[in-house]
Amino acid sequence: MARIPEAEARLFHRKWVCRKCKTINKADISKVRTGKLICKKCGNKHFRIKRKEKKAVA
Ligand SMILES: [Zn+2]
Repeated sequence: MARIPEAEARLFHRKWVCRKCKTINKADISKVRTGKLICKKCGNKHFRIKRKEKKAVA
């Protein structure tokens, strides 16, 4: 049973963490895949999916 990154991305609210400065950017996966997502803080283009969030504190 392979896990599908795209499905995971959708499940995790389309949040992406900048690999450079660890800022969370919200974007559609298609944007990330096509390299259109640019970190709002440092301008980096490399992101990873933000996984498992602790239950949001209000
Ligand atoms: Zn960044």
